[in-house]
Amino acid sequence: MFILYIFILFTSSGDLSDNQNSFKQLESNHATISYVEADKSEAEKAQKIIESAWNEFSLYFSIQNKEPVQIWIVRTPEDFSRMTSGRSSFLYGGVARPGSGIIVVKSPRLRKWNEDFAGTLRHELVHVFLNRAGLDEQIPLWFNEGLSMLLANEYHWGTGLRMSHIVLTNRLIDYRNLDRELMLTTSPDTTSSAYIQSLSMVQYLYKKLGSEKFWEMVRGCKNKRFVQALGDIGGLSLDEFWHGYRRSMWIVTFMGALATGSIFTPIALLAIFVFLWIWRRNQQKMKEWEKEEGEDEQLGIRTVPWEHLTQEPYDWEMKDDDEW
Ligand SMILES: [Zn+2]
Repeated sequence: MFILYIFILFTSSGDLSDNQNSFKQLESNHATISYVEADKSEAEKAQKIIESAWNEFSLYFSIQNKEPVQIWIVRTPEDFSRMTSGRSSFLYGGVARPGSGIIVVKSPRLRKWNEDFAGTLRHELVHVFLNRAGLDEQIPLWFNEGLSMLLANEYHWGTGLRMSHIVLTNRLIDYRNLDRELMLTTSPDTTSSAYIQSLSMVQYLYKKLGSEKFWEMVRGCKNKRFVQALGDIGGLSLDEFWHGYRRSMWIVTFMGALATGSIFTPIALLAIFVFLWIWRRNQQKMKEWEKEEGEDEQLGIRTVPWEHLTQEPYDWEMKDDDEW
């Protein structure tokens, strides 16, 4: 691997950041990392992470554009916000501009104690790969995020537990709202649940289809929309997938409670009772909606299938506006 240190001297007035003069660059086969001297060891760590992740992800995605990614390790909330179109470093671990191959991450002094630097870099790199493989226009945002989390090995062990909590507190996000919630529309807490749920849905699909079919389906999205690839290659309609997933979440929650013995505690019994009550109420509501839809149809009112609503390519991460 060839490594080169360059001290960059910008002569023109800055587009990127006021303190850009102090950024140095570390270059390797697949990444150019900009950092300030105090973060030199982080830059070296980032380089190792990217090089190994690059080789790993190349097995799953075939990409033509092998240009190195541009990594920026920033030290202040202002720089983070400036380089990510106003995003807050308190809410985001990292941000990618997949079309330009730019990844912005935080220096240790900006990170919270539990932030996973390697996971964040890997996650953002998956977004770049999905873009370069020509897939990100065809897949919904939840699948893009969930797959990035899966390959980044983020929250691997905690997902089941967090999903049980989400299910028991009736915060499972409806499929039609998931992409919207990922974009911080309600609250940071809902967005965080939306990310976990996206990962758990991708994990479910991966288990359901098996590795070979799963990847065949992902690659199939190069030529067709996600829902079509899911049907043609995965043999599942969107409805079958969503209902199967929700059923599986209930089983995960129940087995989790059983395995830890907590099912016999009064709180767990109460939670399950409440869950069943809410679940039954939702089922009844769904039946009512179906009835209303039937009546609408008789009256000639057309309903747009909800899978169409979730297919809009409105992810800010995918829109590459290149404004700087
Ligand atoms: Zn992401």
